[in-house]
Amino acid sequence: MSWEEESIAVAEQKEGMSEEDLRWAIGLDLGGSALKAGLVGTDGSITDFERTPIDRLAGPQSLLEAMEVEISRLTGQAVMRGIEPAGVGVGCPGSIERARGRIHKSPNFRGWEDFPLRDRLTRMTNYPICLANDVNAAAVGELKFGAGEDYDNFVMITLGTGVGGALVIGGRLYDGAEGFAGEIGHMVVDPDGPECPCGNRGCLERLVGAEALVERAVVLLEESGQQGILTSFPPDELTPQQIGLAALDGDSVARDVLTEMGRWLGLAFISLINVLDPDCILVGGGIAQAGPPLFDAIRRTVGDHPMSGTARVVPIVTATLGPRAGTAGAGALALWPELTSAP
Ligand SMILES: [Zn+2]
Repeated sequence: MSWEEESIAVAEQKEGMSEEDLRWAIGLDLGGSALKAGLVGTDGSITDFERTPIDRLAGPQSLLEAMEVEISRLTGQAVMRGIEPAGVGVGCPGSIERARGRIHKSPNFRGWEDFPLRDRLTRMTNYPICLANDVNAAAVGELKFGAGEDYDNFVMITLGTGVGGALVIGGRLYDGAEGFAGEIGHMVVDPDGPECPCGNRGCLERLVGAEALVERAVVLLEESGQQGILTSFPPDELTPQQIGLAALDGDSVARDVLTEMGRWLGLAFISLINVLDPDCILVGGGIAQAGPPLFDAIRRTVGDHPMSGTARVVPIVTATLGPRAGTAGAGALALWPELTSAP
């Protein structure tokens, strides 16, 4: 084989991974209303994906049982497919104390304070267990299989009920000294702003979280007295998704809400860009689908402020894996444990 032929063969092997090269892991993504689980391949494919509804207030035992059921189901599927999962990766909400594999606290789940999740799962299964915060897991998913594939350094922010954050530095997850880094939702962007349950005032999450967006829409609707798409919903049934869709349809109040949201996010991004000099910022979560009305406001705010070090425009892009990012990333953590600093 000539040198040229050999290099083409290597390139093809990298492109289309052969069956033998493909490795698999079990990915579990525990969310506020469901446990999402599947077999995740090193090529980014997810098979046997299932979404099991859970009750976040039911306590750790019931959630552990749900995880055990999914691990056994996926082990059975793996046997049928003739594959051997390398391990189990779990993404779950809250702050994770990395060295001890414990959930430090998870405010939306009952009974998860200082809970030894990794040890409990290790006792239930024969797999190595990799534990990460859910947004960190989603960021690893985007890094290996999604919008972060071409970047070694990025910040990911997820916009939902809360505001989550994760940092990828040098092609690896950066989770800080103890595992708690990336709490972008608690960056103070308005010291005179509303109180946050964390004890500060004007945290980003209190200004752009789901509750804040709906509150702001209700205030602007009252002030303007205008009839529009949003006035067709009772105020207590308004959701960020409806605001996003209304903005795309040109509703002026919805657009104003997203413009304000984009400004707060832009202010946070200026600090992140100055501190971290990232390749890009990834924005995930349902409201990111609102697209231009939100992203134009973010880019305008970032563009209007001088940057200390960089003259380039840092791309602000939408995350691409959507609701499966957490499962894909949890599986990726088990496939490539070196992506995290976890022991
Ligand atoms: Zn806060």
